[in-house]
Amino acid sequence: MALVNAVALIHLLGCAPPVCTEDPPGAFYQLAPDQRSAAYVDAETFANVFSWLQQADDRDVSFSCLVDRFTNAFDNDVDMLVLVLHLGGQEFLERSSTRIIANFTAAQRVFESGIGDVPKPVVAPVGPSTMRSYSVIGAREGLLAGPLLHELAHGWSAYLTGPDALTSQIRRTPTSHWGFSSVGGVLGGWAPDSLEQLDDGLFRACSPTEVEPFSPSGYASNTVPFAPLELYLMGLIAAEEVPDIQIAVNPQLAGPVSTCASFTADEIVSVSIADIVGENGARSPGPADAQRHFDLGLVILAETTLSAGDWQYYQQVVSCLESTEACEIEVQALGAANSTPFYPLTFHDATGGRATLRFVELDPIAPPLGPASLPE
Ligand SMILES: [Zn+2]
Repeated sequence: MALVNAVALIHLLGCAPPVCTEDPPGAFYQLAPDQRSAAYVDAETFANVFSWLQQADDRDVSFSCLVDRFTNAFDNDVDMLVLVLHLGGQEFLERSSTRIIANFTAAQRVFESGIGDVPKPVVAPVGPSTMRSYSVIGAREGLLAGPLLHELAHGWSAYLTGPDALTSQIRRTPTSHWGFSSVGGVLGGWAPDSLEQLDDGLFRACSPTEVEPFSPSGYASNTVPFAPLELYLMGLIAAEEVPDIQIAVNPQLAGPVSTCASFTADEIVSVSIADIVGENGARSPGPADAQRHFDLGLVILAETTLSAGDWQYYQQVVSCLESTEACEIEVQALGAANSTPFYPLTFHDATGGRATLRFVELDPIAPPLGPASLPE
């Protein structure tokens, strides 16, 4: 059993205001040979980001300014921006004081109604006006192995403002996950139909993936397809396709957690999609008109210039993630070097073939962006 305990999934709706309005001296963008990603090369920025990821309350470095720099450098109206540290997962763990690889998403704009607003949206969003969210991935394997799919899901979830039983799970720390519920998607909960009652007030339920233990705060590996409720909130399926959701009231873990976990609860209540629509309004636009293709920007935060081999790696990753066929690169869960290898789900796979993404060809506003893009 592989336990992914070295990966932290933090969800943040806001960030400190930008504190760095100008590029540090010597910082530059290096464009990928195919222009579908760019490295932001600056040792100081890299060190700051690495430090920030280990101390989430450190506001000295703001991710908002990195997003501002992207907006100033590229003329691309992306839907989501992905910032990834150019660092291997094991290397992250070796260099880290906390020995936890942190990842997070900051949702910036809401373009639809009916998806809730817990916690409240940010006041001063950053990035292109089209940008829904930006995600920071702590180590490069996190793109393909996950938690990229988990982080992308935070563009829409989980912000529902009712019913109370569901929202009390969403408000658990870290916020905006499905908690002890049968949603069983990339943002947490148990596999539907896995709930058993063991005794009066004692229950047992199981993870939707063999790669990770049961988790109320979501799954990091790119192995869990988006659940019906997640697909509904993304606008990809109709309300009628979302099954009733079982939710534990006042749940407490009761024993060790592996693929399955025991927990106590006052009771299990059931919430229907009609209850959710009644509290939040209908998701609009619905599946007939909702966006089904998403443009992503990819920025690699690097200490030094990337090599031809590095670019080849990112080109493979990008092709795999946006593929509408199977991704045939075998990976292991981020931060778990001895775990069972798996073939990751692509975004298209995770949506059940309902939506696609593409990493856009970046369009520099004012070349040159620094030294030549491809050192020999
Ligand atoms: Zn999360």
